[in-house]
Amino acid sequence: MLPPSWTPPSTPAFAPTPDPLTPYRDITHGHFEAGDQVVVVKGVSGAELWGDAMQVVASSWHTPTDEDGWRLRDPNGGAQTFITAHPRYLVHLSRRCPDCMSYLRAMADHLMPKYADHADAVIDCGWYTTTALGQLVHIADARGGR
Ligand SMILES: [Zn+2]
Repeated sequence: MLPPSWTPPSTPAFAPTPDPLTPYRDITHGHFEAGDQVVVVKGVSGAELWGDAMQVVASSWHTPTDEDGWRLRDPNGGAQTFITAHPRYLVHLSRRCPDCMSYLRAMADHLMPKYADHADAVIDCGWYTTTALGQLVHIADARGGR
């Protein structure tokens, strides 16, 4: 597996794609802590996964799931520099832990075959939205079930 690239693309192509993995990820709130560098995987770029790299700032309530989440600082977030995400959306960049690496590997195995013919394209799989109150919501959580 190639190392992931987290450079934000300028114009990703929007290609709604099922995500059967993230909603069922078994990861605890305590897996992360303030100061961690993390990424939210949003799609693929060529032969790699891509997403938004952010820093964990503080524990914060994730209202869409009514569970403990994490406040994140997005250096490219513009008006929404700070957003709150559920722990299962996050992957460690600052350390290579087994939990996050196995999730990344599974995501790559799931997505790469779908976009093998789009080697130059950046694909946004359309899983995440950010509410007006700065809550990052996975499409499975937005529907109110998973
Ligand atoms: Zn981890």
